[in-house]
Amino acid sequence: MGLLCLPMLISCQKQQFSYHVDRFYDLELLRYEVPGWDQLSVQQKTLVYYLSEAALQGRDILYDQNGRYNLRIRRTLENLYTNYPYDKNTEEFALFEKYLKRVWFSNGIHHHYSEDKFLPEFTQEWFVEACAQAGVEYDAAILPVMFDPNVMAKRTNQAAGVDLVACSAGNYYGEGVTQAEAEAWYEQHKDTTDEPLWIGLNSQLCKDSTGAIYERTYRIGGLYGEALEKINFWLEKALEVAENDTQREVIAHLIEYNRSGNLRSFNAYCIAWVKDLESRVDFVNGFTETYADPLGITGTWESIVNFKDLEATHRTEIISANAQWFEDHSTTDPIYKKEEVKGVSAKVITAAILAGDCYPATPIGINLPNANWIRKSYGSKSVTIDNLVKAYNESAKGNGFNEEFMIDDEIRALYDQYGAVCGDLHTDLHECVGHGSGKLMPGVSKDALKEHASTIEETRADLFALYFVADSKLVELGLLPNKEAYKAAYYQQMMNGLMTQLVRIEPGKDIEEAHMRNRQLIAAWVFDHCEKNEMEIIERDGKHYLQINDYEGVRRVVGDMLAEIQRITSEGDYAAAKTLVETYAVKVDQDLHKEILARYAKLNLAPYKGFVNPVYTPVMNKNGVITDVKIDYTEGYVEQHLRYSRDYSNLPDVN
Ligand code: ZN
Repeated sequence: MGLLCLPMLISCQKQQFSYHVDRFYDLELLRYEVPGWDQLSVQQKTLVYYLSEAALQGRDILYDQNGRYNLRIRRTLENLYTNYPYDKNTEEFALFEKYLKRVWFSNGIHHHYSEDKFLPEFTQEWFVEACAQAGVEYDAAILPVMFDPNVMAKRTNQAAGVDLVACSAGNYYGEGVTQAEAEAWYEQHKDTTDEPLWIGLNSQLCKDSTGAIYERTYRIGGLYGEALEKINFWLEKALEVAENDTQREVIAHLIEYNRSGNLRSFNAYCIAWVKDLESRVDFVNGFTETYADPLGITGTWESIVNFKDLEATHRTEIISANAQWFEDHSTTDPIYKKEEVKGVSAKVITAAILAGDCYPATPIGINLPNANWIRKSYGSKSVTIDNLVKAYNESAKGNGFNEEFMIDDEIRALYDQYGAVCGDLHTDLHECVGHGSGKLMPGVSKDALKEHASTIEETRADLFALYFVADSKLVELGLLPNKEAYKAAYYQQMMNGLMTQLVRIEPGKDIEEAHMRNRQLIAAWVFDHCEKNEMEIIERDGKHYLQINDYEGVRRVVGDMLAEIQRITSEGDYAAAKTLVETYAVKVDQDLHKEILARYAKLNLAPYKGFVNPVYTPVMNKNGVITDVKIDYTEGYVEQHLRYSRDYSNLPDVN
């Protein structure tokens, strides 16, 4: 629910800002720009600064949640790194540095994505000897945790038939607690009232000496109290410069929740947060997503501070204001159209700081809160983080991807010029009018399409966007510069769905993920229904390329498909949905897949990316009043982590 998917692998326009910071293993570090910073008032900048301090103060919490030895390991490594008395230009030391960088990236010793433990490439003997010579003392218990592949091998184990709690290295349960015991405890304490408390969201379940299960709550005076106290210190300051009463309420409830651990305060905080639509500055700070708990109950600590991108948000307002026009002019049968359609205007935000589980690897969107009853009664906030999307796109510029996969200079030039603006518009149309379009026939259930519902729904919204991105209405509304620009979106969408998204699939595997299925479904169906003089695949020197000959023709087929997908949705035609998905969305052409993987491998791109944060420095007058906050982008990856460990290390080794 909470995280939106990663951006498509593609590159866009050029820029002066330098995005690349570091690269090692399968990881790449980027920096992100914070456009619009200078347009914020001093009060808003100060608010961001205080909230960013509150964000950074929670750093150690995530390390400890990810594994109970992580803080000890990180501190030992940093200690050795800074105090190593010998020549650092050796092969061993380089391997050691790489390992430390990887620990920082993962906030622990397990890969942030695969969740498998990664092993050092230097030996235990070298490490022990180096620590002895540098005078670095450490707890010997970390040695097997670091070096033995069988100890704490997986962070969150989801395998069938194992004790998920006992076999997961994450620290959401105390030692000796079994899955059955944890499940029984949750069952017994479950809140079944109308406005339920999310029991277990902010606690570790432990076992006492008599074998009884008890909760250690994350709160001041409880587990992670030292860090929560620091977080509250900065939240108190933020309270003084909040933009309005609703935002003050949000911050006040969060302070109270950190203090008491009372989940009723958390619910109050979530409700106030959903209601706060006016503030320019917004933030998340706390125990939020539950993917890392093998039982999906306890929240992982994260923080992000952001402010509204007014220009981009205005773009979504224009689209949303024209929702009825889009509905009336879509290709769907009039009986499936809504007589009165309301667009939603999506909020587009600029991230100012990332922390906890949003750092260094990060989502590109937020959709919260996670409690279903709050979403139903009070709604939710869904935002796209534009400056991070931009950093991904811009940094990919010149990485060779488009040169390898796009057919000629003409389409590459068109894509360089219009790819980014088309990408934004596609997202806006999809979110603001696509999902909200059309209606179900009387008696048709929302769940009629069962396991294919999300694939078909994403397909419908994407087709709606794709159909209208090519409409001259967008030029008329001032959202696209001319009638040619949309071709960039068409080529990219079709190339991605037919070929290049396969770089994310392992050889021999089918496509499982709903967004990937929907993208292949669209591209493959449209390809199948186009004539050769509209769209074809061309082979050149053993490589396959997409060639679009007639964009208006392709758009007509997109319109036909939109009509059919809307019919399936409106009628709840499960059989047709199943046939479409099975025919077009799941299976992969093995030969083509091999070819694409080989071409992609030659580009030697890092599959995972993360960020370093900018640095905020307050400027004060003689009386200690903040008169400005300066932003700086020059800090490096190693520098940043060593500084964070020095200034924001709030928790003891063992918690
Ligand atoms: Zn969608």
